[in-house]
Amino acid sequence: MFSKILIANRGEIACRVMKTCRAMGIKTVAVYSDADADALHVREADEAVHIGAPPAAQSYLLVDRIVEACRKTGAEAVHPGYGFLSEKEEFAAALKKAGIVFIGPPVKVVAAMGDKIESKKLAKKAKVNTVPGYLGVIKDDKEAVKIAHEVGYPVMIKASAGGGGKGMRVARSDQEVREGFRAAKSEAKSSFADDRVFIEKYIEHPRHIEIQVLADSHGNTIHLGERECSIQRRHQKVIEEAPSPFLDPKTRAAMGAQAVALAEAVGYASAGTVEFIVDARKHFYFLEMNTRLQVEHPVTEMVTGLDLVEQMIRIAAGEKLKIKQKDVELKGWAIEARVYAEEPERGFLPSIGRLVKYREPAAGGAVRVDSGVFEGAEIGMFYDPMIAKVVGYGADRQEATAALRDALDSFYIRGVGHNINFLTAVLKKPRFATGKLSTNFIAEEFPDGFGGAKAETADINLINAVAAVVHHQYDQRDGAISGRIRPAPERAGGQWVVANNGDRHTVTVAETAGGYAVIAGEASVEFATSWRLGDPLFLAAANGRQVTVQVERVGTHYRLSHGGVQAKLRVLPPRAAELLAQMPVKRPPDMSRFLLSPMPGLLVSLAVETGQEVKAGQEMAIVEAMKMENLLRAERDGRVAKLHAKPGDSLAVDQPIVEFA
Ligand code: ADP
Repeated sequence: MFSKILIANRGEIACRVMKTCRAMGIKTVAVYSDADADALHVREADEAVHIGAPPAAQSYLLVDRIVEACRKTGAEAVHPGYGFLSEKEEFAAALKKAGIVFIGPPVKVVAAMGDKIESKKLAKKAKVNTVPGYLGVIKDDKEAVKIAHEVGYPVMIKASAGGGGKGMRVARSDQEVREGFRAAKSEAKSSFADDRVFIEKYIEHPRHIEIQVLADSHGNTIHLGERECSIQRRHQKVIEEAPSPFLDPKTRAAMGAQAVALAEAVGYASAGTVEFIVDARKHFYFLEMNTRLQVEHPVTEMVTGLDLVEQMIRIAAGEKLKIKQKDVELKGWAIEARVYAEEPERGFLPSIGRLVKYREPAAGGAVRVDSGVFEGAEIGMFYDPMIAKVVGYGADRQEATAALRDALDSFYIRGVGHNINFLTAVLKKPRFATGKLSTNFIAEEFPDGFGGAKAETADINLINAVAAVVHHQYDQRDGAISGRIRPAPERAGGQWVVANNGDRHTVTVAETAGGYAVIAGEASVEFATSWRLGDPLFLAAANGRQVTVQVERVGTHYRLSHGGVQAKLRVLPPRAAELLAQMPVKRPPDMSRFLLSPMPGLLVSLAVETGQEVKAGQEMAIVEAMKMENLLRAERDGRVAKLHAKPGDSLAVDQPIVEFA
């Protein structure tokens, strides 16, 4: 067994790999860029080597620097994690040359599977079902249209070197093929320096289901069942689960057998994933093979009880697999959600900044949290904006969902935007509970984007009740401070009005031995809680059921969130609420006539001029933020009355750019 392993990665996956190394008594070496000098993966490693500047191309992607770091520290093996160099043939080859073990499959397999066209040819030879299509490189858009006709619409145009959902376009007409061909080609060129594209059939209402395989270098190959990753946004996974609610034992066995056949055909050794796309009739087709650990591997670990990183290390060290196919038992259900630094309410723009407050859900038992950050850490613009992965586990899918929802309720993050409310909103959709998933789930369930989860009556009652309890406690304390006016007798009676914009709810709060008895609307809630003033998480048993509500006091308001719902409330004595109702309301100005900048950035160009008629969907302006160009389109038809900014101006968020007549 190795005595020291270098982890050629950062963030949560570097921390994850180190955890297993520690458990196995193996020393760890971290590598880091200037941006990561204080990162968690550096703190957790036994040693750390600086390898360059913040951009990945000047640090985490430099093969020579990493080989050099191994030499310097005496690391005998490298775990590449996912992304970065994990699927780069040159990297595996360079390590081999330097006599260092690559914790992954043989170099030739990395090479063969790294290319979508080549890997599909191999899969076909191994008698694996592949998506019908044309497995050649397409020269120009004329040829693309011709092939699209042969394959039959709809088609998918894909970059052969593609990954991470980039360089991929669906086309349903000749026009879309021409556009998609150009877009996929140029995206592939800029992202992968390889502009080869091919065309395959687009499978309608597809589900993404992948098989985890495990193979040693002694010819033993098994599979660990499937993960369903159909909840995606722009072809990127958001929520993953094991098992899949769609598969029956027969289909699972057939998919498993094909995945194993492919792994054997290419001489696979290590953990790997064979991705399939599955249509509504349970016909499945090979997509690609990932020759590394997947982001979503924890769900498989939770239902199999195996540690995949440990298995990879043992296989790399030449050990034989100790488990046989018949020993693999899938138990319970696991669902993972990826928590990203982004703003779902603003079209999922990435968010950067410092994690001013950061408290993870309590892990253990039904909840697992994999992360690579801490309170005070910075989410920068150089790397993937994933903050953490949260996994809920249970005996069945319903229990796993409940565990994950509770965990998300108690995940407290301030300082950067995050998608926790969005994740909860997905899990709350009735369609999620029925398991009728497809890769279009998010597009279909959130056709107008995301504006907060749907507030159910139970959520509203709970939020109002907690707001009243919290305020009651502040009021009692204020009354206990010497020299202050005591609460009026009616307030001591615990009558409050919770005001949420125009909505008014009367709530009565009475203190009990273990907490509070609250009447909010029709509902009466008994809270058992040890919540104390200032605690951002209100943890309680509400009528015996464990709930978590996030509470923040902002001036005269409270901001509460629970179940993906956020509410900004005031809590007032009844008389004050009556008087408040008489006050004039300050109306926010009508901004619907303006095109606003969705983010702070630079106005790169304006595509319209004063007096011009525009149609909905027409290009209006380009705003650059964090090195990404964002195209702003007209939301409706109209005539441009005035331009409020010119190219080169820097814009604040919500700053008007164009005014319509
Ligand atoms: P990447 O390597 O960029 O992740 P994949 O080939 O794994 O690309 O595909 C990513 C996602 O794109 C899939 O999970 C699926 O949602 C969608 N997809 C890919 N190919 C097809 C297809 N032929 N038909 C329908 N959807 C597809």
